[in-house]
Amino acid sequence: MKGWMFGIFLAAPALPMNLSAQNDSLLLQGLKTDVFYLASDSLGGRAPGTEGAEKAARWIGTRFESLGLKPFLENTWIQPFTYSEEGRPVQAENLLAQTNPDKPCKLLITAHYDHLGLGNAHSREVFKNVIHNGADDNASGVAMLLALAEQYAKKEKELDYSVLFVCFSGHESGMFGSEYFVQHCGNKLDQAKYVLNLDMVGRLDDAQSPPPLYFRLPEGSLWENDLLPVDVDGLKVVVKNQEMPLDHTPFHKKGMLAATFSTGLHDDYHRSTDDAERINFTGMAQVFFLLKSTSEHSSSDVS
Ligand SMILES: [Zn+2]
Repeated sequence: MKGWMFGIFLAAPALPMNLSAQNDSLLLQGLKTDVFYLASDSLGGRAPGTEGAEKAARWIGTRFESLGLKPFLENTWIQPFTYSEEGRPVQAENLLAQTNPDKPCKLLITAHYDHLGLGNAHSREVFKNVIHNGADDNASGVAMLLALAEQYAKKEKELDYSVLFVCFSGHESGMFGSEYFVQHCGNKLDQAKYVLNLDMVGRLDDAQSPPPLYFRLPEGSLWENDLLPVDVDGLKVVVKNQEMPLDHTPFHKKGMLAATFSTGLHDDYHRSTDDAERINFTGMAQVFFLLKSTSEHSSSDVS
């Protein structure tokens, strides 16, 4: 049924800071733990092919395991791939996990986990050679994906479909991970319609009232206007209908409805100052509630 997901934006009750204080603090704690680890200096900026990226991949795999998710590939979370950068091969890994492996996949939630390492041509501080921790870009997206995965894993038995979670590498140098994933797994996704990509969701701008949450749609997307997300209590959803190549792009090219949620660009974007201390964790929780309510209202509409 088309529009199952964004129908609920219209149907969702006014949001919903009604989780118990305990759940609320567990959510914040989980988001902080993931962001602070992934954006710590010990991971060295998570450049593909480095030990730091491997540590990040191990962390994500361990989290998948502890949430009770299942592999999407045979017996492994890891999808290795190689791409070429400045004439040299880079070995990278996507991480894949799902709920309900015996049921058709209808929804993908994705986020890239790689970043710029010590800075490279994509840094705004070229030649400085300092660790770029990428707390917002995109430890925040991975933490949000894991928080959502926890919710889906908990209610797995109530759902008659599978949700696939993918953490991409090779993003910062050109969407290599998402391209590879679509090329090699696209044929398993015949029934998947929606791809929600999370990229930089950690800097909700409280100075604006209500703070904006951007919904980036690729140019030419067939997402119908009346099915777009609408404002909800506490957040203003701003639809950006422009091409900004992101990890939703390869899915869009394959004909799927794919878009990226983001809290937007800021001065620390692609600088060494994109650190965990600057993340708006309360804002992340607000974004989480919006996405969570989406999932709660969607299950009965999927067919
Ligand atoms: Zn980036």
